Amino acid sequence: MTEVERGEIRRHMQERLACLRGRLENADLFPLSCADENELASRVSELAMTLALRKRDSGLFSEITQALRRVEDPEFGLCTRCGEDIPKARLKAHPTTRLCLDCMREMEETQRSARAC
Ligand SMILES: [Zn+2]
Repeated sequence: MTEVERGEIRRHMQERLACLRGRLENADLFPLSCADENELASRVSELAMTLALRKRDSGLFSEITQALRRVEDPEFGLCTRCGEDIPKARLKAHPTTRLCLDCMREMEETQRSARAC
C-alpha cells in the first residue's frame, strides 16, 4: 500500500468517525411519558430502534477507532490469513476488515458447514 492510499483510507475513516460521532451525539432520546397508549407504544418502538442504531453506531465507532490506530502499521491492508493485499475499495467500504474477500468467503463457508453438523 502506498502512502497516498494509506492517507486516503485514513481520511475516509476520519470522515466516517466524524459522521458517527455526530449521529451518536444528536440521537433524539425523547421523553417517553405520554397519556395516549397508542402514542406511547409507538414512542417505545421508536426508542428501541434508536437504541439499536446507537448500539450499532457505537460498535462501529470503536472498531474504526481501532482500525485508525492500525493504519500506520506496515501490515495494515494485508490479509491476516493469506498475506495478500486487501483491495483499497474493500478497505474503504470496510476499514475494519482484516481479510481479503476470498479468505472471508472461505471462512464463512467453513463456518456454515460447521453449523450444518
Ligand atoms: Zn486472504
